[in-house]
Amino acid sequence: MNYSHITDSMTWSYSRITSYEDCPYKFFLKYIRNISGRRHFFSDYGSFMHLIIQKYLDKELTKQELPDYYLLNFKTNVIGKAPNKNIFHNYFSQGLEYLKNIEEENHEILGVEKEISFNIADKIFIGYIDKVSKAEDGIIITDNKSRALSPRSEKSKPTKQDQELDKYLRQLYLYSIAVEDEFGIPPTRLVFNCFRIQTHISEPFVPENYEKTKDWALGSIKKISEESEWKPNIEWFKCKYLCDVCDNCEYFQMFGGKN
Ligand code: SF4
Repeated sequence: MNYSHITDSMTWSYSRITSYEDCPYKFFLKYIRNISGRRHFFSDYGSFMHLIIQKYLDKELTKQELPDYYLLNFKTNVIGKAPNKNIFHNYFSQGLEYLKNIEEENHEILGVEKEISFNIADKIFIGYIDKVSKAEDGIIITDNKSRALSPRSEKSKPTKQDQELDKYLRQLYLYSIAVEDEFGIPPTRLVFNCFRIQTHISEPFVPENYEKTKDWALGSIKKISEESEWKPNIEWFKCKYLCDVCDNCEYFQMFGGKN
């Protein structure tokens, strides 16, 4: 069945669109049936790290206090079970190392976990920008990522990792609309702070990609509005450890999924 009567008046976000791209049935459960998601290790961990970085940037915690805060609060914040001991070990120790070595902020901060709202054509979008700052060369949007993205290869033919980076950059191009609305100019750089691997990936803002991202967003919304099948996209690891509505997914249960 088609639900354009719901999607036509929906408030959109990057994660709503990518939720559909990831699995149409997940979009259906989350945003048509409004099923609230369950917690998982990866989302708990990401939210906990975002919270600590926010507290540091807001000067609620000093650099020296970060490791203790992490150790004292990890267990109560990261409730979801990791897929295995190795993954738990890596994530736990990499988070701690990052906080021990966190770099001093040397740019003017314009916003942390900044709530934004913007339009593309008649569609309303919302989001939260992890950090907006002002450097000598202009405004920077930074996104904190637990995912270990690879810096651009600079090869003539884009690698799989380059394509992945471009996919994630769409989020920051969308957020650039709100930055341009507020400050009168778009950002000059889009940065991923891949904290687990202590790597900053800084990409120049490319006007052509900005326009392409707006087209992508509107094209995706059109596709979602025309959807009527809501097919599942079952991949065991993703369904079990990343999908927050897996408990309500009949397809995953049929596939043998238990939680
Ligand atoms: S459990 Fe898998 S198939 Fe089911 S909604 Fe989630 S991602 Fe889709």
